[in-house]
Amino acid sequence: MRVLAVGAHPDDLELLCAGTLARFKAQGAEIFMAYLCTGDKGHFEIPGPELAEMRKKEAAESAKVLEAQIRGGIAPDLELYHNAETVGAVIDLVRWARPDLILTHAPNDYMVDHYTTSQIVVAASFTASLPNYQSELPAIPQVPALFFMDTLGGFNFQPTEYVDITEVMETKEKMLLCHQSQYKWLWEHDKIDYVEFMRKLAAFRGLQCGVPYAEGFQQYLVFGRVRPQRLLP
Ligand SMILES: [Zn+2]
Repeated sequence: MRVLAVGAHPDDLELLCAGTLARFKAQGAEIFMAYLCTGDKGHFEIPGPELAEMRKKEAAESAKVLEAQIRGGIAPDLELYHNAETVGAVIDLVRWARPDLILTHAPNDYMVDHYTTSQIVVAASFTASLPNYQSELPAIPQVPALFFMDTLGGFNFQPTEYVDITEVMETKEKMLLCHQSQYKWLWEHDKIDYVEFMRKLAAFRGLQCGVPYAEGFQQYLVFGRVRPQRLLP
């Protein structure tokens, strides 16, 4: 199994699906992580270009925990648009990972980079399978299955599938803590301790399915994306 997770910002996957990625890894899956925005706006003091560089390193550290490959940063924060250029970049991302399954943001998540990422990933993962869309890399053989991750804070998101992440909570936390620049930013800007924030959502999704900690997902149920077996761990 090859799994591609695409978030908007360098730390989104840790908040919303790192536990599931760790479970996939334990099953022997190959993990590919990606983020579309550079993360250049997420700080009060550090200037954009310097911050983007710092966050690239933080994301690489986190990916190392799962021995995952990582790519990212096709647009500055809040300048990600659903156009031919960004779709083309994400088609190549999908063709690079050749995933059986993709995890990405829900189309109703809380801010524009998140829901634009969702739209671009849905569009690009379809086009990536079409040989007549030519790029540097060959087309993938099949449109990948796709799951939407929880929204930030769980707003207007009712999971239809749950993954028990109790055993891998330590890994998820370790990955999140690689994003040290964001610990300070989220505390000062949003008054949240991001580890507490992550644990509370995981505990709530766990409560809903009868385990200590879980992550919730909605499968994108459209023609060509559905398989007859459960795909999540
Ligand atoms: Zn984000």
